[in-house]
Amino acid sequence: MTADEEKPRLMIMGLRRSGKSSIQRVVFHKLSPTETLFLESTSSVAKDDISSFIDFQIWDFPGQMDFMNPAFDAQAIFGRCGALVFVIDAQDDYLEALQRMFVTVTRAHSVNPQVSFEVFIHKVDGLSDDHKIDTQRDIHQRITDGLADIGLDNVHLSFYLTSIYDHSVYEAFSKVIQKVIPQLPTLENLLNILCSNNGIEKAFLFDVSSKIYLATDSSPVDMQSYEICSDMIDVVVDVSSIYGTAPEAITSTAPSGAHRSNDTDAYALINLNNGMAVYLREVSRNLALVCLLREDNFDRRGLIDYNFRVFRDAILEVFAMGWNRGGAS
Ligand code: GDP
Repeated sequence: MTADEEKPRLMIMGLRRSGKSSIQRVVFHKLSPTETLFLESTSSVAKDDISSFIDFQIWDFPGQMDFMNPAFDAQAIFGRCGALVFVIDAQDDYLEALQRMFVTVTRAHSVNPQVSFEVFIHKVDGLSDDHKIDTQRDIHQRITDGLADIGLDNVHLSFYLTSIYDHSVYEAFSKVIQKVIPQLPTLENLLNILCSNNGIEKAFLFDVSSKIYLATDSSPVDMQSYEICSDMIDVVVDVSSIYGTAPEAITSTAPSGAHRSNDTDAYALINLNNGMAVYLREVSRNLALVCLLREDNFDRRGLIDYNFRVFRDAILEVFAMGWNRGGAS
């Protein structure tokens, strides 16, 4: 198998103008959401190799592509696909989108039953809270009823309410990516151990360039903790890129409040006004641990440092053993 073929493959599909390119550009290419207004609609299959700590491909299919055409090689397309993301424009009439999604799910499932189906009910920034819930319920009902009618009630679809104008699209993408990371259970275990030994309330392992979290401990994720940890990455990256000297590494320069003692021992700490602290530590060039813990836990600073180093070595070992070409170096 070539290196290219080894990568977990993720596909983004949806009708024209549903927001596929916008999601991809905002999450992986740092385009500002308002600039997506000028993006050209997708008109061909676009392969985008994301080479960060994680390596995967995004296939952006044009909305009008015909999967049922005999010339379409479903085995080649879906055979190695880890996850299929359907983007549905919630501000538009979505019946046609559902119809196409239904056809695609049945086709993809028949070729590869392992593929996970992820539905992004997108552009929900324009919807009231009640309308969001109703839309999600309606889409969920229609598609699961349709699948049950043809005897496919074992096909599982996950639904997310997303918008490029807030954190929701990053959160949704994080969950999708976690489904194609084979090391996930080990990463979660390591995070659980780290949290329980250091009084950490919530910890995320982030891919720094995309702000996608590859894993978190097993306590429930609340949106606020996620947002604050994700904002912490922006703060460190922004300060580093303005005042630092080596912009490719997040903390290879010391932003204010950040410290660097050797290659992968950089950190940044912000004390919040509620007795909590947000703490970021660099794990590798593209990977950072961001956690929330009580400020007074830092009384045992030596222990935290020691435990973190053990954690970091374990994480790097996990990736070194499996698929690892993204930069755990
Ligand atoms: P594609 O053809 O599926 O690739 O669609 P585009 O990415 O070109 O997006 C079509 C339009 O939808 C653009 O004008 C985007 O600015 C807009 N759009 C994308 N995502 C969102 C979103 O989350 N909220 C809103 N309100 N508009 C969005």
